[in-house]
Amino acid sequence: MPKTELKEYIVMRNREIENIRDLDVYLASGGYAMAKQALTSMTPAAIIDEVKKSGLRGRGGAGFPTGVKWSFVPKELNPKYLVVNADESEPGTFNNHEIIDENPHQLLEGIVISAFAIGANVAYIYIRGEFAYGARFLEQKIAEARARGLIGKNLFGTGYDVEIYVHRGAGAYICGEETALLESLEGKIGQPRLKPPFPAVAGLYAKPTVVNNVETLTNVPRIIEKGADWFRSFGTEKSPGTKAVSISGHVKKPGNYEIPLGITIREFIFDWAGGMRDPNLPLKFIIPGGASSNWLTEQHLDLPMTWDDMAAAGTMLGSGAMVVLDTSVPVVRAALKVDEFFKHESCGKCSPCREGTHFLVKVWERIDEGHGRVGDIELLADVGKQMLGKCFCPLGDSSVSAVNSAIKFFRPELDAAIDAQH
Ligand code: NAD
Repeated sequence: MPKTELKEYIVMRNREIENIRDLDVYLASGGYAMAKQALTSMTPAAIIDEVKKSGLRGRGGAGFPTGVKWSFVPKELNPKYLVVNADESEPGTFNNHEIIDENPHQLLEGIVISAFAIGANVAYIYIRGEFAYGARFLEQKIAEARARGLIGKNLFGTGYDVEIYVHRGAGAYICGEETALLESLEGKIGQPRLKPPFPAVAGLYAKPTVVNNVETLTNVPRIIEKGADWFRSFGTEKSPGTKAVSISGHVKKPGNYEIPLGITIREFIFDWAGGMRDPNLPLKFIIPGGASSNWLTEQHLDLPMTWDDMAAAGTMLGSGAMVVLDTSVPVVRAALKVDEFFKHESCGKCSPCREGTHFLVKVWERIDEGHGRVGDIELLADVGKQMLGKCFCPLGDSSVSAVNSAIKFFRPELDAAIDAQH
């Protein structure tokens, strides 16, 4: 079957326009014309309506409809804030990184249009602490755009002002969770808040706040330029558009790809990413949507990559982070590595996550080191059961994905690992 082609790039336009990161090149390719059009000839309600019609869903992982989220912001409460979640930290995800480094002005233009649409005059880009270069680079790009009157006061003579500030995190995965991010932005310890209230109603400094991911906002200028129907000509009815997906592990061509939503996992791995690296080592399992997601195996290769299809198969598309592993990988070691990450990143606020991730690692570790005990698999399952749905935020639940997936698909291998130790 021929590879499904992408008609044109929506977010990774750096792949087709050389040096689009430079303001002059971006302007020559029609950049900031959409911000001008939106601010001078559209009402905020019309912008929200177009984004709603496009069916754009949040690219950070949850796939929540963007226009719907914007429409939850109460008009009468001020000030309002737009917060850009650039805390990309999910293991296996590195696609926001490319957008920030290579197509920053399309992101900034998306921020200007989106801030105007929700009635915010201030936007914060909360960027992962480790992205030191990206943070400095964005500040430089904001300064360049401000010097040309594209960010700042009285944009395009409309009287609308918007300031964009870059705020670096301090390297905590939990600060990608939107409410922990807001706490951190307020200068507090990055620990999640209970939802509801959702940030759209009470977010930064308890004011209405829209938190959107980098890739989500980078889609916005092109939706304004070409319209909702054009956007819907990519992807599927319920998952329109494209998705920037990072693929890593044992494939021939790891990296970032912008795919039309709806291609199958088989197409993505074998046509786009070149297939398995070593012909003698076949596919063993896939971590399809970041370390938080439930694993898939060969039987799932024909699953379409959309939010709903992946959810129906018990996993998630997430933020677009596929890790493909071959038969050289021991399941116990893989699960241990995943859960070590969650143990390290648990913020410690709630006991099921703080204690649970610790227990999971302890048990995986002893099996991995050759001291597994009879009953350890049942113990892992039991700890997971006591965590799932009982943690304050999704981090604790995420650590159970590796446990349940390993037991579901590789029980004989787990039993054999323990039997071999007695
Ligand atoms: P969620 O479903 O709770 O919320 C999604 C978004 O919709 C949020 O902004 C939320 O405020 C908004 N929302 C939902 N219901 C609402 C309502 N009734 N009113 C107003 N707003 C509403 O999901 P989440 O916990 O924010 O995100 C989970 C996802 O994060 C996972 O799917 C995972 O893939 C992803 N994730 C991404 C990374 C990364 O590095 N990109 C890291 C970890 C997790």
